Amino acid sequence: TLKGKTAVVTGSNSGIGLGVARELARAGADVVLNSFTDRDEDHALAAEIGREFGVTARYIKADMSSAEECRALVTQAGQCDILVNNAGIQHVAPVDEFPIDKWNAIIAINLSSAFHTSAAALPMMRKAGWGRIVNIASAHGLTASPYKSAYIAAKHGVVGLSKTIALETAEEPITCNAICPGYVLTPLVEAQIPDQMKVHNMDRDTVIREVMLTRQPSKQFATVEQLGGTTVFLCSEAAAQITGTTISVDGGWTAL
Ligand code: NAD
Repeated sequence: TLKGKTAVVTGSNSGIGLGVARELARAGADVVLNSFTDRDEDHALAAEIGREFGVTARYIKADMSSAEECRALVTQAGQCDILVNNAGIQHVAPVDEFPIDKWNAIIAINLSSAFHTSAAALPMMRKAGWGRIVNIASAHGLTASPYKSAYIAAKHGVVGLSKTIALETAEEPITCNAICPGYVLTPLVEAQIPDQMKVHNMDRDTVIREVMLTRQPSKQFATVEQLGGTTVFLCSEAAAQITGTTISVDGGWTAL
């Protein structure tokens, strides 16, 4: 059980981050949700998790493209035993046409934010005598596809950063790892299915199998609950000697 631990999950008002926060709360952790918005529904989401799992759940607004706000998120959380760096965005374009502002935003949100939050969290973890950093990288942290240069550079960077933090904390009761999901069924992905069915004139199962999951040998999406479960495992005693590595949750993508 993670009772008494506080988990900060960046980019957690939807998708994988929300799924991870929910599974950490189910395991007993108090959770801090985050995104760059500050809407009533963001705070309501935290309240709902608190009620459902009987933990303390808060929402703290912080824009992960800003070094100061990344660090302020951890400071404001007050305690950070578990840090999950999940916030991420994507943009698709060939290198020679890739907009400079998109490159900079992806590197900032998908890579640099994990550096800043980790830098702020490590002294707290050392003081508490325990810590877990879980970075949500991607199958694209280990392999590449065309037109996703910034995303793939950032995700490979996150894998490298995770290894370095693991070495710097190797003799302490702190671990740092990266989870590498393949294609995950989030609301955003679910919303693309009807369009893809129309474009390709295929039924739901065929479009999932043949169009969306061409690189995922299992022909099934990973779920946000499975990503949450993997995160909870990395926070468990069984995973205390797992550090500086990657865990793929990709239905065989990186085995191909
Ligand atoms: P999503 O768009 O549902 O979630 C992204 C989250 O990040 C949202 O909560 C969003 O509000 C937040 N966010 C975006 N910009 C932010 C900013 N500037 N500051 C703070 N928060 C910000 O997408 P998702 O699929 O849940 O992705 C979550 C992570 O998982 C990303 O890092 C993504 O690269 C990674 N990932 C996703 C998949 C997939 O198939 N969905 C596969 C591999 C890796």
